Amino acid sequence: MSAAGQLHLFSNPDDTPAGSFSSRLRPSAATANSHPTKPRAAKPLRNGEVKPFHVSVLGSGSGGNSTVVRYGEQAMLIDAGFGPRTIAKRLEQADIQLADLSAICLTHLDQDHFRPTWLRTLLGYDIKLYLHHWHRRYLDRIEGSSELFRAGLVHLFDGEEFQPIEHVHIKAVRLPHDDKGTSGFLLDTPRGRAGYATDLGHVPDELVESFIGIDMLLLESNYDPQMQLTSSRPRFLKQRIMGKHGHLSNEQAFETCQRLADLSPHGNPQKIVLLHRSAQCNCAEIIKRVFAQDARFEGRVQLTHQRRRTRWMEVKPLDAVKREQMALL
Ligand SMILES: [Zn+2]
Repeated sequence: MSAAGQLHLFSNPDDTPAGSFSSRLRPSAATANSHPTKPRAAKPLRNGEVKPFHVSVLGSGSGGNSTVVRYGEQAMLIDAGFGPRTIAKRLEQADIQLADLSAICLTHLDQDHFRPTWLRTLLGYDIKLYLHHWHRRYLDRIEGSSELFRAGLVHLFDGEEFQPIEHVHIKAVRLPHDDKGTSGFLLDTPRGRAGYATDLGHVPDELVESFIGIDMLLLESNYDPQMQLTSSRPRFLKQRIMGKHGHLSNEQAFETCQRLADLSPHGNPQKIVLLHRSAQCNCAEIIKRVFAQDARFEGRVQLTHQRRRTRWMEVKPLDAVKREQMALL
């Protein structure tokens, strides 16, 4: 068993972006308030070409959630729980502009995952919006959303695979959260596979089965049960959060990682990114202690933050990791 402090947690947001991105795409600096014609300068990838696959969590927590996914020269978001200006600023730190985004995939439409202020920006930049068909009625309630449908920008998915950007195939898994449910995503690319799941009260077997063998797991680790129970929150809220349709505790997230590591041939995932940490009922030190109970996770855990983005994290299969390690010897 490792000591808690031995977990290597990467928290520096000021990484050097992995290669210049936006300079290869659209040189015009688009802003959240303008309505430029969206140029499409990205070179199409040849079929089967393996490009780098990166993610950066732009921010995560009850105040907003968004993650940028980049495959080669294309980019998309999972969730847009901050306004376009905030996301534009954080993308800029990652060397990406709003105009570089091709799509946004939504887990669900709670305010911390989708801000209605995005509607104009989606129309202005021709950004496609992917959401599960069961969330359509919540989108319909947002004033102005009919324009998105008229512009052909809304793509509803169900059980079928979809491809919001070239070479990134996504399959959604329905997850339990409040009365609306959320979508978990399996992202499958020629370079590697990543799984994304947040806002779920428990982990259904279907999610574990879908995520077996993935290279990177992005999973919520929302609260510490003791902090939750002793907090000043009203009883009904505690019950909602800790119920089967609320959020995952640190222990539930940890047990899910253990189940996946047990079931995966190489103990995958090699990288674990923990999302949606409660500011009031959780803390980094507790999460470190929980994950330090299993030595397999040493060096694999990345915490995320509400107000700043993570460094770029590369999703790559284990054989690629091993080859690179061998090259360093
Ligand atoms: Zn949330």
